[in-house]
Amino acid sequence: MNTIVLKEVLSPSIKKYVIDNPDIAAKAEAGQFVILRIHEKGERIPLTIADFNRENGTVTIIFQEVGNTTKRLGKLEVGDKILDFVGPLGVPTTPPEGKNYVCIGGGVGIAPIYPEAKALHKQGKQVKGILGGRSKEVLFYEEEMGKVCDELHIATDDGSVGHKGFVTDILKELITDDSVQIDGVIAVGPLPMMKAVCDITKEFNIPTTVSLNSLMVDGTGMCGGCRVTIGNEVKFACIDGPSFDGLKVDFDEQMRRLRMYREEEQKVTGCQCGGEC
Ligand SMILES: Cc1cc2nc3c(=O)[nH]c(=O)nc-3n(C[C@H](O)[C@H](O)[C@H](O)COP(=O)(O)OP(=O)(O)OC[C@H]3O[C@@H](n4cnc5c(N)ncnc54)[C@H](O)[C@@H]3O)c2cc1C
Repeated sequence: MNTIVLKEVLSPSIKKYVIDNPDIAAKAEAGQFVILRIHEKGERIPLTIADFNRENGTVTIIFQEVGNTTKRLGKLEVGDKILDFVGPLGVPTTPPEGKNYVCIGGGVGIAPIYPEAKALHKQGKQVKGILGGRSKEVLFYEEEMGKVCDELHIATDDGSVGHKGFVTDILKELITDDSVQIDGVIAVGPLPMMKAVCDITKEFNIPTTVSLNSLMVDGTGMCGGCRVTIGNEVKFACIDGPSFDGLKVDFDEQMRRLRMYREEEQKVTGCQCGGEC
């Protein structure tokens, strides 16, 4: 259990692991996540279930090395075991009702958007995909997304591949130029991207689902670390989400909360232990 059976380097800082865990593979649905811990003194970090294979009993995670734990995780190899691997956690995504969808993945958010697009495609829905990143080096899964999308668009900030600009430029075109009405948008990526998507879809009154990568500790609703405000209600991303109605999310509060521990994180990331302390 929890053995890494496949490792792929998708970009210099983004890695994909296929992990043996038949229990989680049997129950996982799009939108859910796992919490893992690499060693006894390690912190617990949440990562989205980027794919699962019920027959093989495997679960795929894709992560960006941003700090201490993800850098240490990235050093593991095929055959290594992850000490704790708990899930599936969170509520599976309920996409807005309809037939025609746009699925948007930004940066490492491409990993969680893939199972969403795949699930919609499996249900016979029309899916237009938009993938975005800073440059072509940080993009991945174009082929996989291509297989589950009727149309796939790419946007890069530097124009190294696809449209030069933001995913929201393409979204606007799809909404305004297309003869097909879009019934729902699912967006996963950095908070400013999801906020920008929702600013557009709000204008056109298109139901939108986003996935919130809140700071999270226990994943069971006990600690309150992943508190989010949805409309006028307080919710916890770990047990009520992480997918929420994007048109109701208080993004500014989320951005403030994500910055809360920046100083402490930098202290840990800046140390020379190589992830050992
Ligand atoms: C439900 C859920 C699903 C997630 N799925 C994925 C996934 O599939 N792939 C993936 O790469 N990451 C995902 N994340 C984010 C991931 O958990 C964090 O990147 C990880 O906890 C960082 O740990 P660290 O010790 O390496 O970095 P830290 O030292 O904790 O942080 C380093 C830097 O990353 C920033 N950071 C930390 N946590 C987050 C966060 N949650 N969102 C945005 N920036 C953050 C910090 O502000 C800091 O600048 C998910 C988060 C949640 C809540």
